[in-house]
Amino acid sequence: MLNGRRLCLRNLVESVRVGSSLFKVRRGYNSVAAAQAVSSQSLASDAECAADVDWENLGFNPRPTDYMYIMKCAKEGNFEEGQLNPYGNIELSPYAGVLNYGQGLLEGIKAYRKEDGRLLLFRPDQNAIRMKMGAERMCMPSPSVDQFVHAVKQTVLANKRWVPPPGKGSLYLRPLLMGSGPVLGVAPAQEFTFIVLASPVSNYFKDGYAPLNLYVEDEFDRASPRGTGSVKTISNYATVMKAQSRAKNRGFSDVLYLDSQNKRYIEEVAACNIFIVKGNMIATPAINGTILAGVTRRCIIEIAQDHGYHVEERSIPVDELMDADEVFCTGTAVGVASVGSITYRNKRVEFRTGAQAVCAELNTTLVGIQRGILEDKNGWNVDID
Ligand SMILES: *Cc1c(COP(=O)(O)O)cnc(C)c1O
Repeated sequence: MLNGRRLCLRNLVESVRVGSSLFKVRRGYNSVAAAQAVSSQSLASDAECAADVDWENLGFNPRPTDYMYIMKCAKEGNFEEGQLNPYGNIELSPYAGVLNYGQGLLEGIKAYRKEDGRLLLFRPDQNAIRMKMGAERMCMPSPSVDQFVHAVKQTVLANKRWVPPPGKGSLYLRPLLMGSGPVLGVAPAQEFTFIVLASPVSNYFKDGYAPLNLYVEDEFDRASPRGTGSVKTISNYATVMKAQSRAKNRGFSDVLYLDSQNKRYIEEVAACNIFIVKGNMIATPAINGTILAGVTRRCIIEIAQDHGYHVEERSIPVDELMDADEVFCTGTAVGVASVGSITYRNKRVEFRTGAQAVCAELNTTLVGIQRGILEDKNGWNVDID
């Protein structure tokens, strides 16, 4: 380990001396004076050194890695050329649109390491398209799909040594798009910044892969008709923290939200979609404007149909949820998470979980594809080497 580290340092010093620059890497955001090119060789050798991480206890936490990608644009302009920067704090006007008025979007994508060492990204184009649609709703220009996917690939390659070994988790990529220019009156910012962060992660919930205990919230709403529930905007998350922390303090894993008009139909959890299973039928709430169209949700629908289940996208009354055989959640961060119990108005119902559950069957297929173990019939994986 120590030898490895010394070798890495030497490579870095040598390659800085050689000084050829393929990747543009700047030290310090917004600081042209401090610009310092780091050569492609140093980036490559840097990326080979094993990261000093306890792969067994990753959890879902922000972990500093080596590089982040940054790309900027002015209001009328297009995003032009972005670059990798050493990971670190960013400089932002205190009047930035994102800080004052929440003009921002987030995304979440995972990169996996295959047994043969190759790196795979799972459907990054879908996240790119979703960010474009969200940007339109939030009055922001956005990177093209190609720019987005390129930026994500560059971020993975530069942080290659942080991609966990096969089966130990994944490298979570967090693209952000924000109004970074200063504003005072409510209006779109005049300058926008796109950033891609990378952090190695494993399980999202603190109890690992234990079934979730969800609480059906009927006081606070997550989204409303014609609002922004279908957009991955940063402004949707702080508003649910109150309901979430209250439920967590009472021992629940998370909160399941109901539709705001009738308080009768289930919608989703703060960061994942929900499915119910009854016999051979699998149902999930239809995309109606208040629900985030999850990439994992779409994959699970297709896998379930492929496995011979009858899949329905429609309104699901909370009473039907309480009567289901099985319930599970889907999301990039969460994966396919089995729900062990639901509590609604002082009534707690338990559901089938474990290796025999439909959820486990669908999860095995999805994870198998994502890790390059099962055939990727639909071409969902993107090779990054
Ligand atoms: C991100 C997110 C999901 C899951 O989407 P994926 O594309 O599967 O990661 C579901 N619901 C909400 C509210 C989300 O923010």
